[in-house]
Amino acid sequence: MTLSGNGNGNNRDFSNDRSSGGEGPNALERAWVRVRAHLRSEYGDAAYKNWLRSVTLLRGAGDKVVLAVPNKFWRDWIAMHYGDRLVGLWKAENLGFNGVEILVHATEAKDTRLRPEPLEPAPFKVEEERLLPLPPQVNGEEPRLGDVQNLCTPLDPRLTFETFVIGKPNEFAHAAALRVAEADEIPFNPLFLYGGVGLGKTHLMHAIAWRLRMRNPARRVMFLSSETFMHLFVKAVRYKDTHAFKEQFRSVDVLMIDDVQFFGEKSATQEELFHTFNALVDHRRQVIISADKPPVDLQGIEERLKSRLGSGVVAQLNPTNYELRLSILQAKAEQKGVSIPSKVTEFLAHKITSNIRELEGAMTRLFAHATLLNSREISIDMAQEVLQDLLRANDRHVTIDDIQKRVCEHYNIKMADLLSPRRARAVARPRQVAMYLAKQLTTRSLPEIGRKFGGRDHTTIMHGVRKIEELRGGDPSLNEDIEILTRSLTR
Ligand code: ADP
Ligand code: MG
Repeated sequence: MTLSGNGNGNNRDFSNDRSSGGEGPNALERAWVRVRAHLRSEYGDAAYKNWLRSVTLLRGAGDKVVLAVPNKFWRDWIAMHYGDRLVGLWKAENLGFNGVEILVHATEAKDTRLRPEPLEPAPFKVEEERLLPLPPQVNGEEPRLGDVQNLCTPLDPRLTFETFVIGKPNEFAHAAALRVAEADEIPFNPLFLYGGVGLGKTHLMHAIAWRLRMRNPARRVMFLSSETFMHLFVKAVRYKDTHAFKEQFRSVDVLMIDDVQFFGEKSATQEELFHTFNALVDHRRQVIISADKPPVDLQGIEERLKSRLGSGVVAQLNPTNYELRLSILQAKAEQKGVSIPSKVTEFLAHKITSNIRELEGAMTRLFAHATLLNSREISIDMAQEVLQDLLRANDRHVTIDDIQKRVCEHYNIKMADLLSPRRARAVARPRQVAMYLAKQLTTRSLPEIGRKFGGRDHTTIMHGVRKIEELRGGDPSLNEDIEILTRSLTR
């Protein structure tokens, strides 16, 4: 993407002037320091920290300065909000620049002289970036969101659709999220995203909010954690202001609440959420919810709220599989501009199976280590040494072998029979139980499980899993078997 000044750029190549004219490339770097200082003082520390600090200088090329940013979204944001000023400041440096080109790390900027970004040990945090101010209403009425606006969760610029890696385990949730974010008409209501910790729920919620905001800044998007929702409600009750509370919530176009499992047992807040929710849905407003379980399994939440929450599209972020973990590791390394041997990414994708947050943590730690130790090359040995604790914690996960062994003991059958093609009920049912447990308790994919069960096809595994799911409802003794086995395997 190129941003140009209005002046008539003569296309002289200034790069020689700058390097042979005694100022050298340092002149460019010194100018960049000044430009950044200007931007910081003009836009403030928050904007600087959130957006501008991650812009890196690559080089001068002709009459353009070439900069790089972490992703496409970043590029568009910088261009939209700071583009003119960037061009102006560079022109004012009198180095002959008349425009700015912004590249995206690791994709457009592959062959540049990009060095790995310096590592920031603390996770990136957006402190003051709030939802965009609401535009005045067309009919001259002031927007009614008032203070609630300031309580919206700040959006993290790194959590966008562009940085979300898609694989089998999350493709449906991703597609549903994208659909809601891009639709002009409400496609389904609500969207309910659920999944275990660290599998990308919050990432998708931010991505939706960003996309909605980009597509139509006038849309009133309210994105809250469930704690904030409860906090606001309790405050409203205390100050006898529930009417205003209701009004505020009901005036939004899109309501997003992250982690509703924390609503459990707070019945007054639940009641309020239920009414707010009904009012919004009735008025054709989009509601997007996330939780760690599907609606039916939410504890302490009233039946009617559960059924309302499940009445749109319910999409799961499934535990990761090897392929997704590998793609995520590759994507993160690329984003950081760090090269990491494929042996090492494969090793990590095999070993760190718990969730994506831990996988990211492992990468960050490895990179930091490599940088601190003067670009020591990242190797499997190094990973084993630096990530000892993480690797050990992930080792404790249940394996398919454990499951098969335990199921054989429990039903008193032979392993050879469990793995054989025999269809006699006495071995077929325990086999299906083992398949079911392998799906529930490990992160293996159906084909992987199939291979462990004497080379069965993944559809056979799926059939087995479904069968047990079906039977569990009406068969207390089967249910008990499964609970005992689960407990003994996960203890
Ligand atoms: P959850 O809210 O489900 O606990 P998060 O959305 O906070 O999980 O995800 C944990 C971390 O993993 C975040 O840093 C997020 O950016 C990253 N992450 C999760 N899913 C993906 C994905 N599909 N691609 C890239 N990064 C991901
Ligand atoms: Mg979360």
